Amino acid sequence: MENCIFCKIVKREIPSYRVWEDADYLAFFSITPHQEGHTLLIPKRHEDYFFDLEDAEISSIMTRAKPIAKKLKEVFKPKSGKVGLILAGMGVHHVHIHLIPMDSEDDLDFKKAEHNITAEDFEMTLQKIGKID
Ligand SMILES: [Zn+2]
Repeated sequence: MENCIFCKIVKREIPSYRVWEDADYLAFFSITPHQEGHTLLIPKRHEDYFFDLEDAEISSIMTRAKPIAKKLKEVFKPKSGKVGLILAGMGVHHVHIHLIPMDSEDDLDFKKAEHNITAEDFEMTLQKIGKID
């Protein structure tokens, strides 16, 4: 898809902090995280709306989200004991699942978006997460 920022991230035309990927899905950091470790998981194939994905893709993307969420929980130890998931799709029109280590429900609020995270911060967070199997 032309001019889709996430398609450009997939093609490495725009840099991102890649957390995990396979042939069909990619996880990378939100550049405006609500909490440290806030990750976006996307299908590499462009689709605007989550519920327009094929049934198998809906199942696959959730299955891919699971080990990422597990790792985020282990590493960031959110106070709620949970990694929250948001599927909104209002900002970028390419399906993306937000995975957010949640101290409380407030961490799901887009008003919590932090705009001043440095490259060094992201690199350090990437180091903490390490490899996801
Ligand atoms: Zn796209």
